[in-house]
Amino acid sequence: MKLKTGDKVMVITGKDAGTESVIERVYPSSGKILVEGVNTAKKHQKPLGQQNQGGIIDRDMPIDASNVMIVCSKCGPTRIGYRFDDKGKHRICRKCGGDLR
Ligand SMILES: [Zn+2]
Repeated sequence: MKLKTGDKVMVITGKDAGTESVIERVYPSSGKILVEGVNTAKKHQKPLGQQNQGGIIDRDMPIDASNVMIVCSKCGPTRIGYRFDDKGKHRICRKCGGDLR
């Protein structure tokens, strides 16, 4: 998994194509990610006691990591490359070569 929590990404396929948002969670075993405000499903919530009346709530559902591109602060959506130095592996933008977060 090249993507990490907190990465800025753009959705490239599906009903949310073109949306830019931030990764809330990654699921490395399934290759899926949860992106804030993307692939939102309406969920019917049962009333749970007096405080929670129930009703319909919006819930973000995970999408496949291949459906997004990382967003470089200079170039916009880009592909991830790697750079190695004595501190280890760094993710870079393939367009400008700048470090990604
Ligand atoms: Zn760039």
